[in-house]
Amino acid sequence: MQQLDIVKIRKDFPALDQKVFDRPLVYLDNAATSQKPKQVIDAISNYYSTINSNVHRGVHHLSQQATEAFEHTREHIQKYINAQNSHEIIITKGATDSINLMAYSFGKKYLQLDDEVIISALEHHANIVPWQMICKELGAKLHVIPMNDEGELLLEKFEKMINQKTKIVAVGHVSNALGIINPVEEIIEIAHKHNIPVMIDGAQGIVHKKVDIQDLDCDFYCFSSHKFYGPMGVGILYGKEKYLEKMPPYQTGGEMIKKVTFKKTTFNDLPYKFETGTPNVADVIGFDAALNYIEGIGIENIEEYETELLQYATEKLKGIDGVKIYGEVPHKAGVISFNLKDIHPYDAGTIIDRFGIAVRTGNHCAQPIMDRLDIPGTIRASFAFYNTKDEVDRLAEALEKVKEMFG
Ligand code: PMP
Repeated sequence: MQQLDIVKIRKDFPALDQKVFDRPLVYLDNAATSQKPKQVIDAISNYYSTINSNVHRGVHHLSQQATEAFEHTREHIQKYINAQNSHEIIITKGATDSINLMAYSFGKKYLQLDDEVIISALEHHANIVPWQMICKELGAKLHVIPMNDEGELLLEKFEKMINQKTKIVAVGHVSNALGIINPVEEIIEIAHKHNIPVMIDGAQGIVHKKVDIQDLDCDFYCFSSHKFYGPMGVGILYGKEKYLEKMPPYQTGGEMIKKVTFKKTTFNDLPYKFETGTPNVADVIGFDAALNYIEGIGIENIEEYETELLQYATEKLKGIDGVKIYGEVPHKAGVISFNLKDIHPYDAGTIIDRFGIAVRTGNHCAQPIMDRLDIPGTIRASFAFYNTKDEVDRLAEALEKVKEMFG
């Protein structure tokens, strides 16, 4: 593994180089969104300054160049996750959009009255609500893999939940609220034994770990560009061709059609059947630059660095009297979720902010986890490869100050 030159890396991220309340910013809200390297910012600016035009329609030079750059990104994503075909890569607006596409399109094709969908107790609202809605609409049932007090999913219960009516399993790769890496390989194996497809919500997974779709053998995998050092407004849904081919379009209009008459419309081939209207071309091209950047550093190097940083932060925070960490299990990535004894997370977060440190407080769009743990929320520090041990020390100092202020 290669040692990362963090000083050099940080120079690539302009937003990290600023003061907040007169102190150098410590950005520990990467699970909400990551900062962007200048290579990404430049790619977007460059697109608008040069080849800005609509894709897939024009015969003119600019449109062809934009289309080429757009489709190049799709192929780049395909190679990055080692998908078999580039038409299995659907470009969406974000992970939430990808899951909505899944729930409605997969749901309309494969779910019927009394069928069952399985999610887990560790899901982000984005992987709960769309399934809840489609189940309600179709009279299907939503079941939840339970977790233990530490936040680990109970796989023995999962296998018992599966039956003839189960039509899909949709689980997160890594919990955004607790940082727990779910045993997705085992979940996929168990589901596949019963011929049930699995969708992985990889919004917090792909950013910390190498994802090889063919190794993982999941049937669907989705994520957002903006958590992965790319721009906002771009997401990915990978799906196996055998399912995508059969799924109906999620939205309709321009781009996704083959032929339209007032009587009838036929739909375009994959992946365009699922990509309606003008896409977010500039940001898709910006995401290509993000992938180049990550490949330049190496996701394995990132994983190793972040794992060490997380261990350091965990030990440091455990050394502070009154800190309670949630979801402290061996397999974790990028996140520490904790509370300070007798202090509401929101109050703590407001004071931590005054020290120039960005953490997130609240339920992290995962209210059922907070209900299960019987807490109003947590303080969440989430890490990226540009964070440092010094920044962890700054957080620890701020927490001591918060304790002092609350007596
Ligand atoms: N799933 C998980 C696990 C997440 O952490 C998030 C974002 N916090 C989402 C889905 C939704 O991502 P987006 O808001 O980019 O659509």
